Amino acid sequence: MFLGNKTAVITGASRGIGKAIALKFAENGANIALIYIGDSAEAEQTKAELQGFGVKAEIYNCDVSDWGSAKSTCDAVIKEFGSVDIAVNNAGIIRDQLLLRMSEEDFDAVLNVNLKGAFNIIRHLSRSIMKSPAGRFINITSVSGMMGNAGQANYSASKAGLIGLTKTVAKEFASKGVTCNAIAPGFIETDMTAGLPQSVKEQVNAAVPLKRMGEAEEVANLAVFFASELSSYITGEIIKIDGGMYI
Ligand code: NAP
Repeated sequence: MFLGNKTAVITGASRGIGKAIALKFAENGANIALIYIGDSAEAEQTKAELQGFGVKAEIYNCDVSDWGSAKSTCDAVIKEFGSVDIAVNNAGIIRDQLLLRMSEEDFDAVLNVNLKGAFNIIRHLSRSIMKSPAGRFINITSVSGMMGNAGQANYSASKAGLIGLTKTVAKEFASKGVTCNAIAPGFIETDMTAGLPQSVKEQVNAAVPLKRMGEAEEVANLAVFFASELSSYITGEIIKIDGGMYI
């Protein structure tokens, strides 16, 4: 139980990596405020699974890219839970296209969710998290933001931006005992990668030294490390979890 008596806000947590993080946090004793945007039934199902660990769990429908929606949701979470210790910015989207064909709309949409969404949540929760004895911000970036990736100008830029945001938040909040770190996954098996053609999946497996895609639970294990006292002297760090794909 690494997170007993902590409250964590996790965005995009009704499925995929966010859900795995929420379940792993709950297993470690954290109360969970789960933010989602799409399917309420999926969010309700995840809430029930979280409650199975004996922790408090609530779900909030919120578009993290919208300043006002993010603010009212963060305010509602603080009112309901009393305080927040940990924020995980996991919500993310892709709109892949070669730059020559990428629309302004697709560029803006990805930047708005992946980067501005994280800023909005950090901005609206920071006063509460600053009061925690061991506040934590965790941002889910991507190796795409570190190495670049053809067809992902928008996504790579948003994830590289998250790395800059992570380092700045780390510097601004360190004096309050709050850390901010980022996790950079490679290819992880979720809905986001489910649509990749089989040929691409085979290329990925061949290119990754550990010869397979990662599992959401493996990312969640790293998130527990960053959320807990285990990482008390680490801030402004980006850890890749990619099977050695980008060494
Ligand atoms: P996913 O299965 O597609 O889930 C994305 C989550 O983000 C969903 O829960 C979705 O909510 C939520 N979301 C999307 N737009 C939102 C918005 N405007 N406001 C609030 N929530 C929103 O993706 P995933 O694979 O788990 O990815 C999670 C994170 O890891 C993302 O930031 C992604 O970029 C990053 N990542 C993933 C991989 C990978 O290989 N899978 C690799 C590197 C980085 P709903 O369920 O309600 O639609």
